[in-house]
Amino acid sequence: MVWLWLCHLVVIEDWLNKEIVTAAPLRHSMPQETSLHNISIVLVNTKTPGNIGAVARCMMNMGLSRLLLVKPPPDRRGEAMKLAAGAEELMQKAARFHTLREAVVDHGLVVGTSKHVTRRRKNIHPPREMAEHIIPLLPNNKVAVVFGREVNGLDKDDLALCQELIAIPSSDAFPSLNLSHAVMVVAYELFLSARAGAPASETALAHADALENFYRHLQNTLQDIGFLDREHPEHMMFALRQLFGRARLDQRDVSILRGILHTMERAAPRSKP
Ligand code: SAH
Repeated sequence: MVWLWLCHLVVIEDWLNKEIVTAAPLRHSMPQETSLHNISIVLVNTKTPGNIGAVARCMMNMGLSRLLLVKPPPDRRGEAMKLAAGAEELMQKAARFHTLREAVVDHGLVVGTSKHVTRRRKNIHPPREMAEHIIPLLPNNKVAVVFGREVNGLDKDDLALCQELIAIPSSDAFPSLNLSHAVMVVAYELFLSARAGAPASETALAHADALENFYRHLQNTLQDIGFLDREHPEHMMFALRQLFGRARLDQRDVSILRGILHTMERAAPRSKP
């Protein structure tokens, strides 16, 4: 009886060991750290050149390499260079754009950052949760993480381009982080999440320019059929952007939706502007 019981124990132990041995390599088989190069950190209308340098340094610490600058300030005193301290090359290679829309045209996912959490906005995530969404997308998609101006953050047009938002939990009494500190928190979570490894997603998301063309088409058609107010389409368009944003559309989805809009246009008489 005792002998049988001992055999049982040995079998269980053997089974447990096998579990441990077979579970371990999974973590090593899916490192994603190299795909971090598909992340763009986008700074919109930064006022203080030193902040751009500090951001470049944070990025380099966390394995990020692509910095995009929308309307950056001139840096006459080399303040940005001083704070870059070792990340000068990354900063000098940064591409410059006139608008956020131009900067993100070829990105499959555009994620904004804001301390404001409004009830109208549904898709807001803490940095860790968002990093876990982003990392699996990287082998097949470019992802932009967008940071606003020091004084008043991202404006409503910038926010409309962002399918999702990251809000960094912080003190209610003083919720706004310094720009480079906010970049560091997000970059750190992306780095950790990339190191943890996750199975890559096959999805190739529609690029931001294809989505923007779709939203323009949607707005025109909904106005033509009289569903959308010609004077004030913003509220409903904001809701629709969030709805389609949550669906993570790929190029084929966008083609189908645009096909439906073309058919609606042919079928419906135009409402008077
Ligand atoms: N006073 C501004 C904050 C600007 S701070 C405002 O009212 O919005 C500069 C940028 O840092 C912000 O645009 C945002 O990109 C980022 N940031 C600062 N604090 C943040 C937080 N708690 N969560 C997410 N992003 C934050």
